[in-house]
Amino acid sequence: MSDCLFCAIASGDIPADVVHADDDMVAFRDINPQAPVHVLVIPRAHHATAAELGAADPALAGRLLEAAGRIAEAEGVAATGYRVVTNTGEGAGQSVHHVHFHVLGGRDLTWPPG
Ligand code: AMP
Repeated sequence: MSDCLFCAIASGDIPADVVHADDDMVAFRDINPQAPVHVLVIPRAHHATAAELGAADPALAGRLLEAAGRIAEAEGVAATGYRVVTNTGEGAGQSVHHVHFHVLGGRDLTWPPG
């Protein structure tokens, strides 16, 4: 989508601090981190929400979640614990309407989230 921020990051038109990229996805550090480790994992293909991604391409959804786990390992938070979050809709805090999985770790994470 031409007016989508994360499509522009996926294409390289807007720079990001990329930690992983392959044919399917890009993972990059959140510009406003909420934890010592805060990486966003996005598909290159535009899907607005996790539900839309899961319906359209469940295999891709699985690869993104697998990558989230590998990123947690690489970032050193897999052993201590981390959270994979996807916000859906304005009321849940989704501000970018291109599905993204937040990988958060490196501090104690409270539950339930706010
Ligand atoms: P959400 O509010 O769940 O839609 O998450 C969107 C996330 O994208 C927020 O955590 C933002 O800090 C992050 N973000 C927005 N613009 C950028 C950017 N240019 N580079 C990296 N992260 C960004």
